[in-house]
Amino acid sequence: MNRAARRASRRLSRGPCSDCGDDTGAEDYMVHDHIWREYGPNGGDGTGLLCIGCLEHRMGRELWAGDFTHCLLNLFGDPDKSDRLESRLRRPHPPG
Ligand SMILES: [Zn+2]
Repeated sequence: MNRAARRASRRLSRGPCSDCGDDTGAEDYMVHDHIWREYGPNGGDGTGLLCIGCLEHRMGRELWAGDFTHCLLNLFGDPDKSDRLESRLRRPHPPG
């Protein structure tokens, strides 16, 4: 699989969180590339998934709206998205 295909796969597929193993189906989101490169699984190479809690644990802070890309997935996404993800997407300012 080439890099573009892996990236597309990360965006579209659902599976277990790379850290805790929980299903990420309710937390399908996209953060900016620089965040994923620094904190994503496998060096942010586009493989693996993280739930919101594990990404925040790696970052040492909670997410806010500015961390997410302005893509349709984030704006509309899954109507069954978790309350946790919903609250981060709606947070207008960085935490703290
Ligand atoms: Zn997790």
